Amino acid sequence: MSGKNVTEVRLADLAGIAEAARILESGGLVAVPTETVYGLAARADSADAVAKIYAAKGRPDFNPLIVHVAGLAQAERYAQVLPEARALAQANWPGPLTMVLPRRADAGLATAVSAGLPTIALRAPAHPVMQALLERLDFPLAAPSANRSGFISPTTPAHVLASLDGRIAMVLDGGACPAGVESTIVAVRADGSVEELRPGPLQLGTRGGGESIEAPGQLASHYAPGKPVRLNAAAAAADEFLIGFGAVEGDITLSASGNLDEAASRLYAALHEAATAPQPRIAVAPVPDEGVGRAINDRLRRAAA
Ligand code: AMP
Ligand code: MG
Repeated sequence: MSGKNVTEVRLADLAGIAEAARILESGGLVAVPTETVYGLAARADSADAVAKIYAAKGRPDFNPLIVHVAGLAQAERYAQVLPEARALAQANWPGPLTMVLPRRADAGLATAVSAGLPTIALRAPAHPVMQALLERLDFPLAAPSANRSGFISPTTPAHVLASLDGRIAMVLDGGACPAGVESTIVAVRADGSVEELRPGPLQLGTRGGGESIEAPGQLASHYAPGKPVRLNAAAAAADEFLIGFGAVEGDITLSASGNLDEAASRLYAALHEAATAPQPRIAVAPVPDEGVGRAINDRLRRAAA
């Protein structure tokens, strides 16, 4: 796509959602709000539309996409939903849970959404705008985070424009994303076991197996603000912009009261602000590695890598 194209930002009212649906039906790209981060959506049943996501993001083709569905019934058209997966969906959908499941041979979706894997990642998002879109479309939406590959994820329309302005047709403005970090991803195996592939807003009590080959997109360097990042900092050096948490005050704070949900919702806005601050380096206060703090620390480690 050419950088000369104009990206329209439209309020996610009925008319805005209708226009987004029209663009998606014709194979275009729309950045859409979800409860986690803004997603860069395209119709998952079109190889051409899905190819545009990889091109706009500059995303490596071995990194598979999450396919967003309206609910369990639609999921069953694309994946083998084992009993354990069905129970997880019933307990947590719509919500920030992505399940990696065996892909059905007759799924009829672009092969690129799975990056050649025999599995497919599915999620039913809870955000009312995304739900309204999915309910009026008769295809699911492939949607990775709406940022250039490797850069900071977006939780506002301004964050989307910071790296994709002119590369996509439209941003559907649904305000700031409430959860603020990407979905929890689990793989549900044929034997019914569940492995966490990426920590996120939802805590299932399963711990991951570390650097799993089954999460090929989980690149070590990701969410990068383009400056050195130092973690677990109690205070800032002279040339550092400090992101605080709890008792560590900082230039800005993830949460002055030490609330992890608040910290998650502010994480990417803080990294965007740090990226544009005059200081050449970023320092981040320690964040407890519990609950959604595990997801925050996972993203911070990748931002620092
Ligand atoms: P993003 O949408 O940018 O948060 O990235 C989606 C992530 O989902 C990727 O980084 C992958 O790690 C993961 N993912 C998507 N599909 C699969 C799959 N079939 N198997 C394993 N992981 C997947
Ligand atoms: Mg991403």
